[in-house]
Amino acid sequence: MNRPQIEQWLLAIGSEAESSSVSDWVHGACPFAHWNHESGTDSNPSFGVQLGPGESKTYCLACGASGKQYDVMLKLKHLGLQFDFHTAAELVYAAEDGEPLVELPDPYEKQFDEKASPHLYPEWLAEAFEPAYFAGDVHPSLAGRGMPFEIAEKLNMRYDPHRLRVLFPVLDWRGRLRGLHGRAVCLPCGGAEWEQEIPYKAYPYEGQTNSHIWLGEHWLDPDSPVVVAESVFDLARVMEAYSNVISPLTATISAAKIKRLRNASRVITLFDGDKAGERGRIKLAQGLPTTNVKHVVLPPGTDAGDHTADEIWGLIEHLL
Ligand SMILES: [Zn+2]
Ligand SMILES: [Zn+2]
Repeated sequence: MNRPQIEQWLLAIGSEAESSSVSDWVHGACPFAHWNHESGTDSNPSFGVQLGPGESKTYCLACGASGKQYDVMLKLKHLGLQFDFHTAAELVYAAEDGEPLVELPDPYEKQFDEKASPHLYPEWLAEAFEPAYFAGDVHPSLAGRGMPFEIAEKLNMRYDPHRLRVLFPVLDWRGRLRGLHGRAVCLPCGGAEWEQEIPYKAYPYEGQTNSHIWLGEHWLDPDSPVVVAESVFDLARVMEAYSNVISPLTATISAAKIKRLRNASRVITLFDGDKAGERGRIKLAQGLPTTNVKHVVLPPGTDAGDHTADEIWGLIEHLL
């Protein structure tokens, strides 16, 4: 984080930055003083947050408390401290995305942040394709999978007649377009056959994709149990029964992607009943050691999309 971001973050956790910084550290009153310091306070600001790209390291000169910013927040939450967790978390995410929340006075710092800025897709890219839902009806390929109009509309499903794919935009937690994914709808289709060998495809923008963004980040409620379904069609089926659902979209879930789920307090996995699903369950549980992660193991060879919305509700209800 840069200095203005650290100042905001310290305020969010109930501390305040000192005006001067010692080399590359910004200091404030130690948030652990009540528990760790003999006097219970920290009159001589000893809690340092290191300047630098991404999530910052912290270190208290008085009590030795240390850890990266998010770990500090989890510890404070665990201790029962009341503070603005959401603002603090958003600041950490923004720093990880490399985007400054405030104008930066230092031109060199600004230059650095622009280089590390997130790869955004232009809004018009998704709108350039026709909707796959119209007048209460859905595209035949979606109807064939039993996707209701309301869900197709909520996911803003699109259709690419040239590549014979149904598309869905991927928005990040701030509602910015970060991806456009296409699912092949007609596998044995003549001219487009070469491309249909890949059932799922992330459409790049300016040669880049963002494989670390979840489908559903922008409607995710981290305070309610989060269901993780494997594909877009699995997600669509779960959504008919329970709306707080997201999908990784990719078969392998990277550490960077798992990190974006850290502010969820409870996670329920609903992966496919196969080896890949098993790997996904293990990876997610290992990557979220402080989160309550539960698993629904589907019958072998089935995925969430093979089940009815009522069946899905029956599988997750007792875990919510
Ligand atoms: Zn301390
Ligand atoms: Zn599936």
